[in-house]
Amino acid sequence: MENIDWKNLPFGYFKTDYNVRCYYRNGKWGELEACSSEYISIHMAATALHYGQEAFEGMKAYRGKDGKVRLFRWVDNARRFQDSANGIMMAPVPEELFFAAIEKAVRMNARFIPPYGMGASLYIRPLLIGSGPQVGVRPATEYLFMVFVTPVGPYFKEGFNPVNVELVHDYDRAAPQGTGHIKVGGNYAASLVPASRAAAEGYSSVLFLDAKEKKYIDEAGPANFFGIKNNTYVTPKSHTILPSITNKSIETIATDIGLKVERRPVPLDELETFEEVGACGTAAIISPIGKIVDRETKKVYQYGEQSGPISTKIYQTLRGIQEGEVKDIHDWTTVIEGI
Ligand SMILES: *Cc1c(COP(=O)(O)O)cnc(C)c1O
Repeated sequence: MENIDWKNLPFGYFKTDYNVRCYYRNGKWGELEACSSEYISIHMAATALHYGQEAFEGMKAYRGKDGKVRLFRWVDNARRFQDSANGIMMAPVPEELFFAAIEKAVRMNARFIPPYGMGASLYIRPLLIGSGPQVGVRPATEYLFMVFVTPVGPYFKEGFNPVNVELVHDYDRAAPQGTGHIKVGGNYAASLVPASRAAAEGYSSVLFLDAKEKKYIDEAGPANFFGIKNNTYVTPKSHTILPSITNKSIETIATDIGLKVERRPVPLDELETFEEVGACGTAAIISPIGKIVDRETKKVYQYGEQSGPISTKIYQTLRGIQEGEVKDIHDWTTVIEGI
């Protein structure tokens, strides 16, 4: 076993042994290559650098109590990665190539998969960039698909404890008919100023409003938002929200445990009616939200000091499935054998 302090891993970059790469040239994908360098060499006029042709995915491999290594709903990540590619005119990565790259990257770095029970996992970052040169605004003709992995601890230092978020009116993450529904770097660039400001003002994350009317709850920084009341799980529906695989799974689990599920526009006024609120995504699964502060009106929405009972139940169920302790009735996990 590697001499790594698994229990205190941050959610950050940690060098592993290999990454996996594949190039798209002359209209077709080449062979997968394993590489030990952390650097890439691309043309200085690559479209990724000038016109934002870049999309990524975020997933995890989990070591279960039974010792097996599981991926969670990788097909959904593969499809979303294709949607992202198509949404900014990049060559989409075929599903089989996506899986082959992930499997290879996980296998070749198996010694970095955190042991069960450390609150850590192996984060997997697939990346697709326009690597070919253009000076006029046009899509590239060459692409680089790569996958690197890095062992990570909890996304928020709070772990599964409530975080405080700042509701902002003066910034949008994505335009109403823009790219909010796909996982492209440009959306993140647009969120850096309000997110950094929120951090400086003492918050873990920002909560955006819809860009058009400023009346509805949109994305919770890099995660989806949800609220729970009257035995109902409510999550916003909007073209600018990234379709989170975690959120989709939570909706299913919520239904399984007898909740109603509503995906619909969530007016700002409704915030005060929720019994539990949280943010969800692969990185944290669920981050319960303890307090939302409206930066403009100064209104404070206060929730529990502890995570609510339904959020806790859903969190434990989802985590249990990912770690092989709760029966995977929806066939969401894929075991990578022999590591
Ligand atoms: C990746 C991402 C999420 C979470 O999606 P998961 O599939 O659950 O990891 C939510 N919002 C944004 C903006 C994202 O980029």
